[in-house]
Amino acid sequence: SSIFANVPKGPAIEVFALTQAFKDDDNTKKVNLSVGAYRTEEGQPWVLPVVRKTEVGIAQDESINHEYLPVTGLETFTRAATELVLGADSNAIKEKRAFGVQTISGTGAIRVAADFLHRQLKRSTVYYSNPTWENHHKIFVDSGFTNLHSYRYWDQNNRQLDLEGMLADLEQAPAESVIILHACAHNPTGMDPTHEQWKEIANLMERKKLFPLFDSAYQGFASGDPDLDAWAIRYFVDRGFELFVCQSFAKNFGLYCERAGNLTVVQQSSATRDMIHSQLTLIIRANYSNPPAYGVRIVSKVLNTPELRKEWMECIKNMSSRIRQMRKLLRDNLVALGTPGNWDHIVNQIGMFSYTGLDQNQVNVLIKTYHIYLLKTGRINMCGLNTSNVDYVAKAIHAAVT
Ligand code: PLP
Repeated sequence: SSIFANVPKGPAIEVFALTQAFKDDDNTKKVNLSVGAYRTEEGQPWVLPVVRKTEVGIAQDESINHEYLPVTGLETFTRAATELVLGADSNAIKEKRAFGVQTISGTGAIRVAADFLHRQLKRSTVYYSNPTWENHHKIFVDSGFTNLHSYRYWDQNNRQLDLEGMLADLEQAPAESVIILHACAHNPTGMDPTHEQWKEIANLMERKKLFPLFDSAYQGFASGDPDLDAWAIRYFVDRGFELFVCQSFAKNFGLYCERAGNLTVVQQSSATRDMIHSQLTLIIRANYSNPPAYGVRIVSKVLNTPELRKEWMECIKNMSSRIRQMRKLLRDNLVALGTPGNWDHIVNQIGMFSYTGLDQNQVNVLIKTYHIYLLKTGRINMCGLNTSNVDYVAKAIHAAVT
C-alpha cells in the first residue's frame, strides 16, 4: 500500500469552503459576504488604477530584470513601508532604531516574527484576541510556541469592545509574553480600541513588560488615512516600546496574490540592528531563500513617487468610503425594518469586517434559505454588499432574527 495511506485529511478552511459553496450555488440572489477581499459596487475585484498604471510602467522598463532580490528584500520598498507605518518623521527612524525586512505579505511577516521570537528570544507564550484572525494560532503553533492564550476582546451581549476583560486577561500574562494587537480594523470584529483605551492597554503592557506584536493588515484601508490607522503603533513607539509590526499590502494596494509584506522592527537603540537583521536573514534564507519582487516593486514605486502616492491616497479613500456607505445602508435598512436589537455597532465598527452579532442558527438560515454566505461566527465582509443587494440582505437578516 502507499506510504501516504495513513495521512489523515485535515479540516477544511472555513472561508475557502464557503467561497466554493457560493460558486457552486446557482441561485441568482446569492451573496458572498465571506471573502476577505475588497469588492466594487459591481461585486468585482478592483485593480487600483494607480497599481495598473505602475505595473504597465514596470513591464516596459528595460532596466528591470529578474535577478534575485537580497534575502531581506527590496530596500526602497522596506524603507518606504517602514516610513509609512512609523511616519516619515519618526524619531525611531531618524535614530536608526527601526528597520524593515521584506516578507511574504502579512502572513509571512507574522511567521518570520514568530520564528525569531521563539528561537532568539526563547519566547513560547503568546496572547491573541478572542476572537482573532484564525491564522494567528496556526502560525504561532508552527513556530514552536507552546503556551497559546486568548484575551477577552468582544462583548457579544453589548456588541462592543470588552476592555475590562481584555485588561484583566493581560494582567495575568507572564512578563515577556508576546501580545498580538490588531493595529486597526480588527479582524473579525471591526471593533478597535479608542485612543484612550489604547493608552490603558499601553500602560498595562509597559508595567507588565509584555511584548507588542502589531498586526497591520489594513493601514489606510480602514479610515482612508494611513496616519490615523497607524495611530496606535506610533503611540506605542513614542512611549518607548520595542516592538514588531507585521505589515500587509494585500488590502490597501489590492495586491492580495502578490504577497507584498514587511516586518518592521523597532528597538531601543541602533546597537542591536545588525544582530537582529542577520538572524532574520537566516530565518528567511532557510525558509524560502528570498522574496518575490513583483508586488513590492509596485508598492515601492507608488510610495516613493509623490504623484503616484497621491493617486493611491485617493484609491484608499474611495475603498474606505464605499465600505462606510454600506455600513450605513445596512444599519438604516435594519432600523427601517424594525429588526429587533440595536444595530449601531455596524456603523461604529471600521474596516472590511463586521461582527454582526448573529448566532449560528441565524447564520444557517441566511446560508440555507437566503443563499447569503457568511462565517459561522456571524462575521460579514461589508464589501460583499452593494446598493443592489443590501435590501435583500437586510430583509434576510430581519427574517433570520425574528
Ligand atoms: N492579519 C490579519 C488580521 C488579516 O486579516 C490578514 C488577511 O486577511 C492578514 C494578517 C494577512 O494577510 P496577507 O498574508 O494576505 O497579507
